[in-house]
Amino acid sequence: MNSVDEVLNRLQTSKFRSGFYLNKKMKKYVKDKGLDIIKNHAYDFVNNRLAPANPINDGKQTPMKGHPVFIAQHACACCCRSCLYKWHKILPGQNLSNNEVDYIVNVIMAWISREFND
Ligand SMILES: [Zn+2]
Repeated sequence: MNSVDEVLNRLQTSKFRSGFYLNKKMKKYVKDKGLDIIKNHAYDFVNNRLAPANPINDGKQTPMKGHPVFIAQHACACCCRSCLYKWHKILPGQNLSNNEVDYIVNVIMAWISREFND
C-alpha cells in the first residue's frame, strides 16, 4: 500500500479516474452531513461491498451516482476488487484486513477533501 497523497497524484494521471468530480449537489450533501458522517458511510460501503473475499456483483457493485462516496470510489479506483488490485495492489479473493479497509477509507476521504480545495 502506498501513501495517500502519492496515490491521489497517480490517479490524476488517468484520464478516466481524473474525470470524476463532486457536483454542487454532492458537495452540499457532504457539507450538510459533515465529514464524520460521510466517513461512516464510506466504512459501511467498503465493509459491505468490497471487504468480503468475493463481493456480490464484483465489478458492478459501486453505482456511478447517488452518493459522494460512490463517486470518490470510482475516482480513487476503490470501486471493485480488480481496480483495488490494479491500482493499490490489494489482492483479490481474500477478505480485506482492517488496515486495508482503513487505507481505502482514507484515500476516499482525502479525495473528497481535495474536492473542496479546488
Ligand atoms: Zn472497479
